[in-house]
Amino acid sequence: MDFDYARYVTLMNEFSNTCGKIRTFRDPEIKRSIVPLCEFLRIAAFEVTVDSANSSSHKPLMQPFFYYFKGTADRKRALKIDETIYDGSVAHYNILPSFGEPDWSEQELEQIRALEKQVAMHSERGYIMKLAEEKGRIDETLEIYLLPYFFEYIGRVMAEGKLDKYGAVYFNLKRFSLVNEYFSRRVADDIMRSYIRGLERSVKGDKCICRVGGDNFVMLYEKADLDTVVEYLLGKKVKLNGIEVNVSATAGYCTITEDVRKPTDVMDRISETIQMARTVYKKPYAFYDPKMAEQKKRMKEIENIFPEAIKNEEFKVYYQPKVRIEDGKIIGAEALCRWVRNGSIVPPMQFIPVLERSSSICVLDFYMLEHVCCDIRRWLDEGRKVVKVSVNLSRMHLGNEMLLENILGIIDRHGVPHEYLEIELTETSADVDFDELKNIVNGLHESNVSTAVDDFGTGFSSLKLITELPWGVLKIDKSFIPEDSNEHSKREKILRHIITMSNDLGMECIAEGVETLDQARLLHQMECYLAQGFYYAKPMPCEDYEKNLMCE
Ligand code: C2E
Ligand code: MG
Ligand code: MG
Repeated sequence: MDFDYARYVTLMNEFSNTCGKIRTFRDPEIKRSIVPLCEFLRIAAFEVTVDSANSSSHKPLMQPFFYYFKGTADRKRALKIDETIYDGSVAHYNILPSFGEPDWSEQELEQIRALEKQVAMHSERGYIMKLAEEKGRIDETLEIYLLPYFFEYIGRVMAEGKLDKYGAVYFNLKRFSLVNEYFSRRVADDIMRSYIRGLERSVKGDKCICRVGGDNFVMLYEKADLDTVVEYLLGKKVKLNGIEVNVSATAGYCTITEDVRKPTDVMDRISETIQMARTVYKKPYAFYDPKMAEQKKRMKEIENIFPEAIKNEEFKVYYQPKVRIEDGKIIGAEALCRWVRNGSIVPPMQFIPVLERSSSICVLDFYMLEHVCCDIRRWLDEGRKVVKVSVNLSRMHLGNEMLLENILGIIDRHGVPHEYLEIELTETSADVDFDELKNIVNGLHESNVSTAVDDFGTGFSSLKLITELPWGVLKIDKSFIPEDSNEHSKREKILRHIITMSNDLGMECIAEGVETLDQARLLHQMECYLAQGFYYAKPMPCEDYEKNLMCE
């Protein structure tokens, strides 16, 4: 037989291309390419033990399988591909005559050796390609799958008709940038890995956790495991080589229902829910509710009508007095925004979170500052009693490099002495843009405009935030004020410590949300001398506030 080398090469290429795709026992693909090869070599049987490259353990997964060919092939000629060497990453194969008399000619044996090399090479290529494919799907730092796998997994469960037994969650680790900053990147990675592994271990049923990127993750879990997931994501201590860090997450959950048609529906729901939890509800977690769509529509409406509303001056400044507990004397006020829309008053919680989704909040804050400055200037000109007024500034301003100039520009344009103004910034701003926060607090301090940490205790209480910046005031959040003066709770102890710390650091300390005389007395006894709350006065329109001040 004349040996047709070109045809041999074509057949070998076909064979090796197909061989790498072998996934299941008796893969029809391999048959398609082996038949002509065997016919060419006049081989009657071909025994294959291939699967090392596809198996994670690199051990053959299946029994050898044989192909028999009738007709042109010689019944006595057979080949066997056998896994003989495994060097840690790549399986090599020897191709052996498997039965019958070894009537191979020298030339045929040469061909067999060539075949052997091809298969070995192919096995290597197949393994490397599979590895590369896997690597593209896997996050190497955490050793978990990336987002595309999540869709794949949902698709698979969906195809099995079991998706309605599952729930899904999108979660974001809270303030992980601080963990990165505090520890080395490597330690922070270890902490993150440990937290994710812990979650994986805690959940008993079927699950799939994937990294979306950074500190964002998605997870599919069985409905029965929901409580475990919620509890875990609310916070867990990660202990690692003597380090102990409490890691928690903000999460958006969705219980999968029949109307989920495709994997991206699940993703849409959970990403929408986490966004609502974070920006609108300001809660550590939320559950998907079809009403969210309605809510989103309303939010869109607010965004759309905002420019016109601000032009029409529909936003009004309400003032809430701040008092000295000892004698109830008004020592300051906080400017709080109210939206008067079609004759009714819309409270800030209904529109501020919406405006915070864009830079509209910055427009509103500057509008409030303008109006407050305008009022103060008028009071001064009218010879009225004037006390310091604080204005809330959203964290959204922190990206504005001209922020300090903008604030001082407004104050100075109205000719208001700086000591009459205070800027309140919420504590939660801290973890995001420490440097920008530092610039603005320092700048205001140098310009004699006071600054206050608002809602202290609800966000991330970093000592760095308190000690490194020259804040004038610390506003203790109302959640720390005991409802009952007989309450000897943990929160009361914390309250006492916050007050002591604030006094020691030379900051003015004021308690928010004081509603009863008992609370005021307790605060005074703890050496917190200033308060703001319904017990003294609710936020009120400018005219009422002016009357209140006159009665002092
Ligand atoms: P905040 O700055 O912490 O303001 C204090 C909130 O506590 C006000 O809610 C006030 O009405 C309420 N409050 C005062 N005393 C008591 C009390 O004794 N008991 C209770 N339960 N609540 C009390 P308000 O006016 O609804 O404002 C809510 C939040 O909206 C503010 O919290 C602030 O974060 C934001 N906000 C209000 N106006 C503005 C603004 O002009 N700009 C920005 N960026 N945020 C604003
Ligand atoms: Mg405030
Ligand atoms: Mg507050």
